[in-house]
Amino acid sequence: MEYGKMTRLDIHVHCNSTAPADLDLLADQCRHMGTMICLSGGLRYGSHDYTPNEEVIAVCKRYPDCFIPFAKLDLWQTADPGEPARWAEMGAKGFKCIYPWYEYDHDVYMPVYEAAEKCGLPILFHTGNYRPCEADILYRRPMLRNMHPITLDRIARSFQKLKIVMAHMGTMTFQPESVGILQLHRNLYADLAGSGSWGRFQPAELYQMFKPAGREVNPTMEQFRNIVLGSDAYVKSPQIMVLGSEHYERLFRRIGVPEELLKDIMGRTAASWMNIRLEDE
Ligand SMILES: [Zn+2]
Repeated sequence: MEYGKMTRLDIHVHCNSTAPADLDLLADQCRHMGTMICLSGGLRYGSHDYTPNEEVIAVCKRYPDCFIPFAKLDLWQTADPGEPARWAEMGAKGFKCIYPWYEYDHDVYMPVYEAAEKCGLPILFHTGNYRPCEADILYRRPMLRNMHPITLDRIARSFQKLKIVMAHMGTMTFQPESVGILQLHRNLYADLAGSGSWGRFQPAELYQMFKPAGREVNPTMEQFRNIVLGSDAYVKSPQIMVLGSEHYERLFRRIGVPEELLKDIMGRTAASWMNIRLEDE
């Protein structure tokens, strides 16, 4: 397989395997697509665990040209504000939050976000739909409410240097309000991953959703500056990465986003948060 330059960055890939054969295949796919990926694992995603953070960090060190480690933060009945710095020292370049005991914007979690901001590293928050699981019976937590996009408002306005990604842009369930919240904050970004399905947005529809009020033509398409590439792929399902990338490209080319902005969306924006230099196409 021929390898090109690394020109893109996909911020949303799950680490569900550390089998060398799976990782080699994924790395091969990354190099072939010219795409670096942020890998997140960690424990306590409702009923299941992914690869522990330590292992994700170790795996990424074996493929430094394509894998970037994210560490999952444990937002439970308590949360440890020492966590972000600890993972950052070990090499994490960002954080992932999902399945919190309380709403993301609960008082007990605020010191954790403050610590992440001090590290200068982004946080990817799952937002919107989450399939019911066995753990729900045990814990009885209100998950859609806990992971509603509006919970990111308090975090974004309290920590204005923290880069926040609203993964899935709220899913269909919270779509209308998610766009409004997104456009309010300079430090809030979103990916368009739809849990493996890419039919959710058609170009005309997405354009209409993001159209600035009272303005007909906006050639800069500035309103799309806080979208970042995120596919929600898995180590064991690298084809989602390909579908995601193709979908983004088709969507934004059809909308007519300028080339430079397209490069930002496809990776330069997120790479800049982590001091990663992507090559020019
Ligand atoms: Zn995901």
